[in-house]
Amino acid sequence: DDKMSCQPLSHHNTRNLLDSVDAFLFDCDGVIWKGDALIDGVPETLEKLRSMGKKLIFVTNNSTKSRKQYAKKFLSLGISVSEDEIFSSSFAAAMYLKVNQFPKEKKVYVIGEEGIGEELELAGFTSLGGPEDGKKTVHLKPNYLFEHDKNVGAVVVGLDQYINFYKLQYGTLCIRENPGCLFIATNRDAVGHLTDQQEWPGAGCMVAAICGTTQKEPIVVGKPSTFLMDFLLQKFNIPTSRMCMVGDRLDTDILFGQNAGCTTLLVLSGVTNMSDLQDSSNLIRPEYFTNQVSDIIRLL
Ligand code: PLP
Ligand code: CA
Repeated sequence: DDKMSCQPLSHHNTRNLLDSVDAFLFDCDGVIWKGDALIDGVPETLEKLRSMGKKLIFVTNNSTKSRKQYAKKFLSLGISVSEDEIFSSSFAAAMYLKVNQFPKEKKVYVIGEEGIGEELELAGFTSLGGPEDGKKTVHLKPNYLFEHDKNVGAVVVGLDQYINFYKLQYGTLCIRENPGCLFIATNRDAVGHLTDQQEWPGAGCMVAAICGTTQKEPIVVGKPSTFLMDFLLQKFNIPTSRMCMVGDRLDTDILFGQNAGCTTLLVLSGVTNMSDLQDSSNLIRPEYFTNQVSDIIRLL
């Protein structure tokens, strides 16, 4: 079975997959749920995999919630998952700062939603902005000077439904006036499923706005970053050759797994369809593909 072969999951290779893998890394949106709607057969599949002794890890690029909020979401969908099995890009941002010993006396400015601030605080950092600045405005008039806290040493940008001119100016000034200020992106997804029926602007556009004003490139901490994979590998001590990354996106999930040497499984229950997968211009190919995660146990 060569790594580029992109085979449909069959009875035979599902058995091989389960024999060769100790841990499954599951993307969330498009794999576990679609917006707030559970995907068919997921709880039973996860339960079965657990009963087989497989380690389950959940990795989402959606930064709007904290791990704790995701644990609640899982529970509300009838799935029991512990907070420390969840790796959201909001948590990844806090862990990036922690691993890189970001000084506790400095502050972090957030363009994003609740999840980021919550994870920063849990990691012992002081955050500014986020939802708190959602209703702030600027008053462009002669002699007006926009004030910002000079102790900000990092700007974290993720999806923000309440992004406004005030936050753009704040984040921009922090980065432009302090060459040492970190510019961190939770993820660069073009679009996301904020509802089950439609795609909406993703964090990529908020990140692009700050790239535009600062002419700088961010440090990305979500999928497909090596930071997040290295962090996971350090935490779980499982060789990547015994891991399978399951996702619905080629450029985040499958690339994330492939770069690290994990087995990769694309599910067609999310944003990628059969014709996207067969498109010869796409260079990222999973080892296996199937309709949805429940196929893993259905095919056994
Ligand atoms: N970011 C946002 C804002 C989203 O709404 C989504 C999906 O709904 C994502 C990212 C991608 O999340 P995941 O990595 O779980 O597919
Ligand atoms: Ca996804």
